[in-house]
Amino acid sequence: MSAESPLRLLLVEDEPTQLLLMQRLLRRAGYAVETAANGEEAFEKISTGRIQMMVTDWDMPGMDGVTLCQRVREAQSQLPGYLYVLLLTGHGSTESLVTGLEAGADDYIRKPPNEAELLARLKAGQRVVRLEQSLREANELLRDANEQIKLLSITDPLVGTFNRRYLNDQLIHEVERARRYGRPLAAVMADLDFFKKINDEHGHQVGDDVLRGFVDLAKFSIRQSSDWVARYGGEEFVVVLPETDLGGAAKTAEKIRSYCATTPFATAAGGIVVTASFGVASLDAGGSIAAAAEALLRQADGALYRSKHEGRNRVTVAGP
Ligand code: GH3
Ligand code: MG
Ligand code: MG
Ligand code: MG
Repeated sequence: MSAESPLRLLLVEDEPTQLLLMQRLLRRAGYAVETAANGEEAFEKISTGRIQMMVTDWDMPGMDGVTLCQRVREAQSQLPGYLYVLLLTGHGSTESLVTGLEAGADDYIRKPPNEAELLARLKAGQRVVRLEQSLREANELLRDANEQIKLLSITDPLVGTFNRRYLNDQLIHEVERARRYGRPLAAVMADLDFFKKINDEHGHQVGDDVLRGFVDLAKFSIRQSSDWVARYGGEEFVVVLPETDLGGAAKTAEKIRSYCATTPFATAAGGIVVTASFGVASLDAGGSIAAAAEALLRQADGALYRSKHEGRNRVTVAGP
């Protein structure tokens, strides 16, 4: 919505001639005018969320203008933006003006309104509406930017997985949850085999393509709802598997391993097959939460080391 678009104004007046006259005046002044003949009808139109300003009569059959103001203020938090209310009043006493303002009117004008004064007061109200609108838009932009920054701070820029910082923070939460509910938790550590050779033979760009291909494959092989992947280092990844025991994690690792060993990754140098080695571990019973998280990764890493040592392209399960 641009700042120049006409403001949507609801005119509430039970007297048809008065309604017609004011409607014409306000349309000429550039407002997009909707009308209602009583409080109930007005409240219904306001509930749609498209009204930005309201000019309402006080005395009307059924719900009167003051009650309408109160209802509007009660519902304000459900509306998309601030609704500015100008109350038309035939009640001249200070007491009744206080009643109108306390009910939620932003301003008032005596009936019959002087045309110039009515437009001038509405112009002042416009400033409030525009200001609130731009504040709200600025807040939304800020919130989007904050979310973007937060996402960037936990994402690996090359492969789009979570980064090591997120792994360290989030693994603590996973361990906490697993402990609290007595549920299993497993981690798989993966390292591409002879990856340096890919870079040496085809260049870094192609190496990057392979890394992204491996991540796609890993993500494809896990439960989207709960399992997640983080980049641990250059060509090393950790898959965290909540609600999964050692056997289940080993199966997942084997699935990724066999898929990887048989599926060429699309790269700038064509299809390239790479193998990977895996280490699988599950959560231990004892120790502090931080120590348990650290031990989980250490044991997975130890098992991965054995996979490398015993010939690569295999899955090793950490054991006593
Ligand atoms: P191993 O089977 O023992 O794991 O052998 P390897 O060659 O995979 O292991 P090594 O640790 O010797 O080499 C890892 C290589 O990964 C070296 C480094 O250049 C490369 N690498 C690390 N990060 C990136 C990256 O972001 N992009 C690319 N293209 N290569 C990377
Ligand atoms: Mg009236
Ligand atoms: Mg490697
Ligand atoms: Mg490595």
